[in-house]
Amino acid sequence: GGGGKADKVEGSFDVKLPGAEEGKVVTRFPPEASGYLHVGHAKAALLNEYFARMYKGKLLIRFDDTNPAKEKEEYEESILADLARLGIKGDAPVTYTSDYFEQLLQLAERLIKEGKAYVDDTPVEQMRKERMDGIESKRRNATVEENLANWRLMVEGKPEGQVFCLRGKMDMQAANKALRDPVYYRCNQTPHNRTGSKYKLYPTYDFACPYVDSVEGVTHALRSSEYHDRNDQYYRVLDDMGVRKVHIWDFSRLNFVYTLLSKRKLQWFVENGRVDGWDDPRFPTVQGMIRRGLTVEALREFIVSQGASKNLNLMEMDKLWTINKKIVDPVCARHTAVVEEGKVLFTFANGPVEAFVKIIPRHKKYEPAGQKATTFTRSVWIDQADALAVSEGEEVTLMDWGNAFVRKVTKNEDGKVTGLEGDLHPEGSVKTTKLKLTWLPQINDLVLLNLVDFDYLITKKKLEEDDDFLSVLNPVTKMETAAVGDANMRNLKKGEIFQLERKGYFVCDVPYVSPRKPIVLFTVPDGRQRPP
Ligand code: ATP
Ligand code: MG
Ligand code: MG
Repeated sequence: GGGGKADKVEGSFDVKLPGAEEGKVVTRFPPEASGYLHVGHAKAALLNEYFARMYKGKLLIRFDDTNPAKEKEEYEESILADLARLGIKGDAPVTYTSDYFEQLLQLAERLIKEGKAYVDDTPVEQMRKERMDGIESKRRNATVEENLANWRLMVEGKPEGQVFCLRGKMDMQAANKALRDPVYYRCNQTPHNRTGSKYKLYPTYDFACPYVDSVEGVTHALRSSEYHDRNDQYYRVLDDMGVRKVHIWDFSRLNFVYTLLSKRKLQWFVENGRVDGWDDPRFPTVQGMIRRGLTVEALREFIVSQGASKNLNLMEMDKLWTINKKIVDPVCARHTAVVEEGKVLFTFANGPVEAFVKIIPRHKKYEPAGQKATTFTRSVWIDQADALAVSEGEEVTLMDWGNAFVRKVTKNEDGKVTGLEGDLHPEGSVKTTKLKLTWLPQINDLVLLNLVDFDYLITKKKLEEDDDFLSVLNPVTKMETAAVGDANMRNLKKGEIFQLERKGYFVCDVPYVSPRKPIVLFTVPDGRQRPP
């Protein structure tokens, strides 16, 4: 691409899809509506969109609804809303794998007749073992008639049919175990969201996905790398079906340290009240992360910047938040807060007898951030931590005001500062002081704040396949600090991101409602490593 910054981000990986022609590429994002979209899904969706746009092709969105027990309409709606939030739009109406249930059923029957599939009743555990050991099922060489008879029992949902599944007849000796007669259909009496009780059996992903990809005109099926071993199977299924070939392009699955990216596990937290819901700010869901203060722009930039790498990557969240900070910082407003516990009055002997107000910019280098009214009073509130850091005789700077001398520090028997006295020193230079203090005027209309910080939900950096996540739950994941803030914060809106000077970035979760109810603010990570 050409030189601009946005251009560079959008075009920053020059990966080509195999056999791709401009105007002819069709990609697809096939979520299962069994949970909310998480950052891993966002990667998949964004990459599909990226390639569709890169080749001036089409992006399809399809709900993979082959698992009637898990899918819910609530999830479907949230997934569509999140895709819209990410700026991802399909180029055709949304489809469902279930739109093809009838065709798939006919196809399965044809494969049985052609000797490419058989009905099996090997119990699940035994099948797994036989697959490992390359042992053929005793049903593998049943006659077409026998298979069709058992298939009908399955289709009709007969009790005798419930022990059966349909398997593809591929190669039980294949080095690639995915080719050792995969399951195509399973019996399931659960009613389906869209087809109700019409079907008593459902195709597996392995059977349905290649077919639907092919008939919908997908040219490139992007799949995360954990499916890599199943690529040959996918091609073989297409071959056996005799339908148009689809290219597979693997991309690396996204993983973050201390982070669960599995809908089933996330659901556990929701169902057990460990989090607020799927949009909890501790969740790696699109909604959770946006609520935590992530911008869509940052998410897109992050995915595209590392999107082409095929390594299985375990990322630090910091990378994402660093990009976010870079986007947010130049434009977000500045406000001031003082921690409630131990806040100290600093009184200036020569301070203003009458309070006065000045209008100052909300961001010194970015005018569109607007202006705010700041009140100047003879005594001002400062943080206990700052009060502990000053010494008698020291000259400090009061931000947006000027310098002052500290004359007297009063402490209680616990060593906590209870009061500071001093003099304003307007002629003093900012360059000569070590401490630049944030402060709030001593007025009645400061707002109450609840500053909320979060920790990871689990204490293990990299969760292995057979780790039980319940054994590594972090007992404390939410930390709250009461504070007071400048009166301008009364106008904060939900989702507004800003900086509390010298404290960091925050996002407003619950705006101002009354003088006694605190405004709830979440810390927005800024990519700097936090102390352990
Ligand atoms: P989960 O394990 O959270 O249930 P899933 O893979 O079963 O995830 P799907 O809804 O089937 O969820 O996934 C939709 C698409 O998102 C698939 O193409 C899948 O490969 C991709 N995907 C899921 N998780 C990740 C991830 N961590 N990184 C990249 N892509 C992912
Ligand atoms: Mg899946
Ligand atoms: Mg999964």
